[in-house]
Amino acid sequence: MKTKKKEISSKPSLTYHLGRACEDCGEPIADQERKTKRHCTSFVDENGIHHNCRRRKHQKKHQLHEDRLLDWAAKQRQTKAKIEEAFAMHGEFVTLQILEAYGIALNNCITISHGYQESSLEFLGYNIIINPFKKSIKLQKHDKPTSNFDGRTIS
Ligand SMILES: [Zn+2]
Repeated sequence: MKTKKKEISSKPSLTYHLGRACEDCGEPIADQERKTKRHCTSFVDENGIHHNCRRRKHQKKHQLHEDRLLDWAAKQRQTKAKIEEAFAMHGEFVTLQILEAYGIALNNCITISHGYQESSLEFLGYNIIINPFKKSIKLQKHDKPTSNFDGRTIS
């Protein structure tokens, strides 16, 4: 017991003046640790569970991106359902007021391409073709992704 105590007290004591902390769990990092250290040292606890703050931080970040993608996909599906409703009620030619009434936001489109006179906004299942000269808005059903569509028909 006595020798153990002595051993501990002979170690240089750690300081925390720099205020560094693990980027995942916020555990303070001693000033004596190497400069680039930003996470706790990984360890295996008595239950055999690996604790790795660095890896966990990256997993969280990855999860955040996955969540954003899922939100985006959900928005696309919602918009598709709204366009289908508007199409069923009003046919292919609609107005801005109709789009607004159905809550179809044009800036939720997947891609946008500008032609000579009209712009084509791609949504799931539909393109919305806007012609500012004719002041027309057309809902155009499509089954293929526009990126694969080269205008030719293969037969
Ligand atoms: Zn940590």
